[in-house]
Amino acid sequence: MKRALHSGIKSVLQLGMATVPRSVYTRLVPQDVIGLCYHTVSDEWPAHVAHICPFKSSTAFRDDMVWLTGNFEVIGYEEACRRKSSVRRSRSPAVVVTVDDGYRECLTVIAPILQELKIPAIFFVTTNFIDNRQLFYRNAASLCIDALDRLGDSDQQATARLITQSQRATDADIPAIRQWLLDLGPENGSSLDATCRILGIDVEAFLKQRRPYLTRDEVRSLRSSGFTIGAHGTAHCHLAGLPHDHLEAELAGSCHTIAELTGDRSVPFAFPFSGHRVDRASVTAIRARNPHVGLLFDSRGILPAEETTVHRISADTPPDDEASRRTVLPSLMQKSYESELRQQWIAPLKSLLHVR
Ligand SMILES: [Zn+2]
Repeated sequence: MKRALHSGIKSVLQLGMATVPRSVYTRLVPQDVIGLCYHTVSDEWPAHVAHICPFKSSTAFRDDMVWLTGNFEVIGYEEACRRKSSVRRSRSPAVVVTVDDGYRECLTVIAPILQELKIPAIFFVTTNFIDNRQLFYRNAASLCIDALDRLGDSDQQATARLITQSQRATDADIPAIRQWLLDLGPENGSSLDATCRILGIDVEAFLKQRRPYLTRDEVRSLRSSGFTIGAHGTAHCHLAGLPHDHLEAELAGSCHTIAELTGDRSVPFAFPFSGHRVDRASVTAIRARNPHVGLLFDSRGILPAEETTVHRISADTPPDDEASRRTVLPSLMQKSYESELRQQWIAPLKSLLHVR
């Protein structure tokens, strides 16, 4: 009897989760402002991004934006600041569109669509990448995987053996090499350089010819078109566990570079990778000492509201079927709310009722 009751309650909770409309989600998990986080949008194959991050076509991104403006109030950075500091709470969140990493497609693909639809946005730029001065190690890893994928079977096996001989850290098995490349960090620069050489990737030529990142002039051009430029660290490293002065250099230093470039007094900051386990007391002290550091943006989905942080939902995932012309944004947003709803309401309720 007890087991039947528990299984009944569990079914009701699960059914409820699947059928809760958006207006109820947004009421149960109140947020004044939420963000959408994109990285790049491209109609061509971006070999430097494709293996580390999903991406949408310009059509799919446009479909997202059309749906978004029809269903939410879409606001820019200044309005987001105003709402975060206001004591009045709104029933439905306003949405900020953001794009991380400072890829050139911000200017060539994303900005024209946003301008056509009159949507404001924040572009978070990693300051060491501006002007294509250096290649992000994750982009180098993606280029290596792409080059490996393009080889014919026998060349691929021979190259895999060469990589394994040069880097004893991995097996000569293609999935293992892919994973090894994806797991490399900034401290593994020599391994990445060696693998690029084996695969015939000329990093300097790639930076010069493909120009993956925005230049200073392009950043200024986006700013003068009315978009906000934010900082995303100097080197796109994990900030959790960094010594305080290093954290300050990444956070305040990158905001300072953007402030000098744009002339803005307050520069928003998006945590590279995520703000998970980044010491909030240190961040608060750094913001107090550096008033040009503006609102913070995290990318772990919907979390309990914080006064100085806008929580963002990853929105890069493309639709399964491009031809269907259906945006995946409603389901991405629903999943993110559902996950937080589970944390805030369902898990405690289940534990109260001893339902597993
Ligand atoms: Zn990033």
